[in-house]
Amino acid sequence: MHAIIYNSDLDVEGNTLIVINDDDVFVVDANAGITTARATIAEIRKLTPKPVRYVVNTHWHDDHVYGNQAYAEAYPGVQFIAHPLTRQDIVDHAFASNGFVLDLIAADVKRLEGYLETGKYRDGRPVEGELETRIRTYLANRREALVDRQAFKAVVPTIDVPDTMTLKRGAREIQVRFLGRGNTRGDLVVYLPVERIVATGDLVVYPVPYATNVYARDWVQTLDAVMALPATTVLPGHGPVMRDWSYVTKVKNAIVGYLAGVTEAKTQGLSLAQTQERVQLPEIRTSFVGENEPRRAGYDAFFRPTLVRNAWEELDPAVMRAYEHAPVRRFADGIYNLSAPGGAEGLTVLVNEKDVMVVTSLTIVQAAHAGVRAIRELTSKPVKHLVLTGAEAPQKAAVAVLKGTYPEAVVSTATTADSASSVVTEVLSVRASGREIRIVRVKDALVVELPSEHLRITRGGTTERQK
Ligand SMILES: [Zn+2]
Repeated sequence: MHAIIYNSDLDVEGNTLIVINDDDVFVVDANAGITTARATIAEIRKLTPKPVRYVVNTHWHDDHVYGNQAYAEAYPGVQFIAHPLTRQDIVDHAFASNGFVLDLIAADVKRLEGYLETGKYRDGRPVEGELETRIRTYLANRREALVDRQAFKAVVPTIDVPDTMTLKRGAREIQVRFLGRGNTRGDLVVYLPVERIVATGDLVVYPVPYATNVYARDWVQTLDAVMALPATTVLPGHGPVMRDWSYVTKVKNAIVGYLAGVTEAKTQGLSLAQTQERVQLPEIRTSFVGENEPRRAGYDAFFRPTLVRNAWEELDPAVMRAYEHAPVRRFADGIYNLSAPGGAEGLTVLVNEKDVMVVTSLTIVQAAHAGVRAIRELTSKPVKHLVLTGAEAPQKAAVAVLKGTYPEAVVSTATTADSASSVVTEVLSVRASGREIRIVRVKDALVVELPSEHLRITRGGTTERQK
């Protein structure tokens, strides 16, 4: 049994577990791209000539599924195992957003090449010394990612495991199990009772837990179920092999701490924004990140705020119901708003004569799904323009849902945030089938104004009548 753990500052790369049996090889997770997956396969071939017969995708995130095609090329007939909801999410999100992510990477390459060509960084600093080295290294990495994304072929899971699947290989037993939701709605873990090894997928991520699509309360119970396994070796989704439960316990306690803070804030009637402000728990943060700057940035982008948001919304049945059923309010002819009560989340749909514009500051994937459902119910016209009003970082996953469904949509933002979007620096006037639309930059956010309808759409997709 082997683990392949890439050590890279540049890429988010999932761990791989390799189980060599008498006649075949069983693999857990397939890396973030074809190039890395091929490197993993080259390592497997150094270890054994036996064929890989099964690859588990523990969940749908890119860094665990984009290498599938390399396994399909290398081992004809290989089967891909996933929870049925993960299979669906791989198709609807991970793979559907390839074109969108490809555009982002292409823009990155262009931007980085620009720094080298002009000799000037974005803040005006001259490109030399350590900065130049960093730019060149990152550029090489982005070019590789671009090649990977251009060569993409969808290789989708072939075996559904909604609950448990057990493989017997001589004395060895391999259990593929769904122990509950957490990191996503379809997390599988792989447990080997004889060797007492468990591969957790991204239910456990080191050094900082990952919570963008998380089910906050279920996550705690699922971690308890994982820790109830009599394992002595733990392979997390990212990070080193662990020999005890201390890190998993630390993650669980952190989640419990934030849940308690959010519950208290919610009981006192605090809004989501107030709750975000209040529930910081700096001592928990320090225990994960110390003085390490990239870890701090990761914690503040992908753990605390998304965990707090999801925990807050889970406590609000109205919000959860709103996402389930996506109630849509009509503001004017062809103008609809979908927003969760009390939350900053929402989107406004402008149905024009030939196409659709969506104005949103969505940050969570569940809301984006509801948005896509609502748009489809409202109209069959294509979304041609996405206006992102907020400037928050974790919008990417939610935007990818919309872009995955409407890949041709142009994205307008107020931030230069390394994307292929059109950046609105002042005012952008759009005339869509006779309707006048003004996209106005206000500090780091965008506001959409519809002068003839007297409507103003602000952060969170909130639609207000102008006085
Ligand atoms: Zn991952």
